[in-house]
Amino acid sequence: MSSQFNCQDGSLLAYALLTILWPEYFSGLQGYTMLQRAFTEEQHMFRDAYRKFLAAEIVPHMESWREAGIVDRAAFRKAGEQGFLMVWPEEKYGGMGDPDFRFEQIIIEETSYARVGDWYNTLHSRLVGPYLTRFGSDEQCQRLLPGCVSGESVLAIAMTEPDAGSDLAGMRSTAVEKDDHWVLNGSKTFISNGVNADIVIVAAKTDPDNNPHHMTLFIVERGMEGFERGRNLKKMGLKAQDTAELFFNDVKVPKANVLGEPGQGFIYLMKGLAEERLIGAAGYLSAAQLSFDLTLDYVKERKAFGKPVSAFQNTQFKLAELRTQLDFAQVYVDQCVAAFNAGQLTAIDAAKAKLATSELQVVAADIGVQFHGGNGYMDEYPISRQYTDAKISTIYAGSSEVMKIIISRDFLGEDYTPFNTRNF
Ligand SMILES: Cc1cc2nc3c(=O)[nH]c(=O)nc-3n(C[C@H](O)[C@H](O)[C@H](O)COP(=O)(O)OP(=O)(O)OC[C@H]3O[C@@H](n4cnc5c(N)ncnc54)[C@H](O)[C@@H]3O)c2cc1C
Repeated sequence: MSSQFNCQDGSLLAYALLTILWPEYFSGLQGYTMLQRAFTEEQHMFRDAYRKFLAAEIVPHMESWREAGIVDRAAFRKAGEQGFLMVWPEEKYGGMGDPDFRFEQIIIEETSYARVGDWYNTLHSRLVGPYLTRFGSDEQCQRLLPGCVSGESVLAIAMTEPDAGSDLAGMRSTAVEKDDHWVLNGSKTFISNGVNADIVIVAAKTDPDNNPHHMTLFIVERGMEGFERGRNLKKMGLKAQDTAELFFNDVKVPKANVLGEPGQGFIYLMKGLAEERLIGAAGYLSAAQLSFDLTLDYVKERKAFGKPVSAFQNTQFKLAELRTQLDFAQVYVDQCVAAFNAGQLTAIDAAKAKLATSELQVVAADIGVQFHGGNGYMDEYPISRQYTDAKISTIYAGSSEVMKIIISRDFLGEDYTPFNTRNF
């Protein structure tokens, strides 16, 4: 892109003077290249098609699903039919076979932006699904993956218990090996897709007396004797997402349903963390972008003291700060996506993305409600739900406090390599 004024060639002083005397020109786009995000032509088409799918098949039903407290399972099947449920698995399992995370980023962003984030398609497809290919046997993949890709089977993961959330080593569920199976006992709570799920990956201790981290992951299937569901829990937000209690009473889990090696469960859970936090970050940030856009539209329309709310300097400054934070966060998240695609995203860099974007989602919704005035408190204004949906993002998938522990442990450790000095 050509530039009518190149500050590297010209005098910096002249440049500074011109920006003061002629701010509109220099704040505008003339002659300058905007920062760009990096998606391919195929990905633009994919985004467009997915947007249309959401508008036709998901958005119109969301309100009734919210009232019911659960998404109709048909949503998963419809997404599966159109190739939007699990895009990453190999074609032999029904997927697209393209591991580029940007396809998932598009799904996550568009789902959040269409205000249907409480349809937990991504938990199914990108958070739980990869456990099967990462740690499962060929037999397990062949038996289970096609149904997950088509949407016939819905997935969930059950780690949290009434007395163990952040501190997973405190879990009490246990499994004991017997002949050709394991006997699983315990209870889980707050499990997303808990009512709809056909396949639940359950973490349980398998040597509780000697090692609190000796855990095994079990594939528990709908209909197994002793596997029962409790309440579908009432929540502050994410109303359409079924968040349930699960109970396991002497469930006989065949050895063919042990995921990976017995005893390795805790390590397996840790291995998925970078990807899980990246998934979260992409969604939280898109929700924050939506809060900004809803608020911008509102303050331009709404009048107070004879002028639009957007004419007040306080509004402009608050939104300018938010706009800047959003753009900074987007650059970081996109760089994390590129690093993930290159196999280089660390759990620590992803923790920073999770921390920053989840906190920003809460701030963006809060600013949005404030600028909507009393209307922002009313259900009929979308910003109201942006606010109640946002709060959980700083708590689940590793709370903000846990992210800060991880980040500080890194900079206090021996291998600390700050981002600004990498690749010097
Ligand atoms: C809507 C929803 C969906 C969920 N989905 C799932 C799911 O699908 N599967 C699943 O397994 N779980 C799920 N969870 C559970 C979620 O992951 C936990 O709630 C989360 O990990 C926090 O655990 P906790 O609730 O036990 O809080 P606690 O661990 O009791 O934490 C309470 C507070 O103490 C802080 N804290 C804890 N330890 C420390 C520390 N060392 N230093 C400083 N502060 C600390 C926490 O940050 C938090 O602020 C879900 C929860 C909700 C609400």
